[in-house]
Amino acid sequence: MLKFINVNWLYLLILSSSLWCCQPKLQSYFCTSTDVIKLPTNKTSSFLSITNSCRTPTAYIPDTLHLEHFPMRYIRLNIHFVNASDSSKNYVGEEAIAFAYNLVHNANTDLQQNAKMNLPIGNQTPVLPINFQYVITPKENDPTDKGVYFHFDDELCYYVHKGTNRNHYNREIINKYGVQVGSVINVFIMPHHPDSVASPTYISSGVGVALGTNIKMAGIYEDGKPFWYYRQILNHEVGHVFGLHHSWAGNDGCEDTPHHPNCWNYTEDAPCNTLVSNNVMDYNAWQLAWTPCQIGRVHEAMSELNARQRQLLVPTWCDLDESKTLVIRDSIHWQGAKDVTTNIVVASGGILRLSCRLALPKGASITVEPGGKLILNEAHLHNDCGETWQGIVLQTKGKIKGEVQWIGNVKMENAVYAIQNEVQE
Ligand SMILES: [Zn+2]
Repeated sequence: MLKFINVNWLYLLILSSSLWCCQPKLQSYFCTSTDVIKLPTNKTSSFLSITNSCRTPTAYIPDTLHLEHFPMRYIRLNIHFVNASDSSKNYVGEEAIAFAYNLVHNANTDLQQNAKMNLPIGNQTPVLPINFQYVITPKENDPTDKGVYFHFDDELCYYVHKGTNRNHYNREIINKYGVQVGSVINVFIMPHHPDSVASPTYISSGVGVALGTNIKMAGIYEDGKPFWYYRQILNHEVGHVFGLHHSWAGNDGCEDTPHHPNCWNYTEDAPCNTLVSNNVMDYNAWQLAWTPCQIGRVHEAMSELNARQRQLLVPTWCDLDESKTLVIRDSIHWQGAKDVTTNIVVASGGILRLSCRLALPKGASITVEPGGKLILNEAHLHNDCGETWQGIVLQTKGKIKGEVQWIGNVKMENAVYAIQNEVQE
């Protein structure tokens, strides 16, 4: 019996050592300029063609087959309740704070469940994830700050959107009471002026206006409707902040938002018996639907390095999420700018083509496994937080290698193991 076991062990030992000596070892090293394969540019890889695609909304539309390539964006905002000095014209205290948080929560719920477009009738417009959420953002290092503020100011508190005294485009209230303006959307909830409300021709229900990266809303307290009723105004105005236009006139830069009569709701008579939109950028009773082009435009603005809209985002791209890895197994072409939150691995058989800007978080790397291919085509790789990322790790196993192609003017910045410009002509 003992002898039998010994023979088996000997067999196993021979087998495992033979496997060990014939199995090539996986080797990893940081890619240098001598490792890359430099290729000439052609018509489709030229700088002109590439930069045009980086500035096209379609390059920012989420790909439903690879939603993990489109990390959620978080927009910072705060809420101001503007009131008369006698405190009679707006919500105050805990009731107001609860109203603000519930309003934002409800607006986020709408953003989590995009709706199918009503128009054009019979349309096949895809219903894609909107992919952003709001976060009420108090001042850092101030535990008493809830991101909800109260102002009692008889001179500046009123909103007038019609008549000779109209002031809805006036920024004084923002200039005087804004908090973290530029990095947080300041939403001012204001009362309509009592003189306007007294006029039979003035509509004093819920309205809003976007002024740069800030928003004024009115009619909420006077209307007395529940918080959820006003989520549409918030989402519509944030659409404006991120560069969307009204869509009913048909000149908003999006082909998937049709021209229509802008009916508020269905009526018995034409045209509002059928041609009723539910798009967020029209005036209607739902304002729930965002088209692929509208989503693409919003995310394009979020991804533009110098855009004021990008400054409103929580910079999720600064911190490396080590619990996840973005693994590329298919042939993927990122034609829009990206901010990833994880390491990237191009697996065997996978191809990742970068034709735009890619920001990597602190300490992150791109690993190209044996048989994987990374194509840098006029790409700009960097860290957008004043930190460094690691660089590109190439792996080889025997004769099978990871491959990095270098086309045109590639910029690799803020990397500990950067490939220098001598690669370029
Ligand atoms: Zn509007």
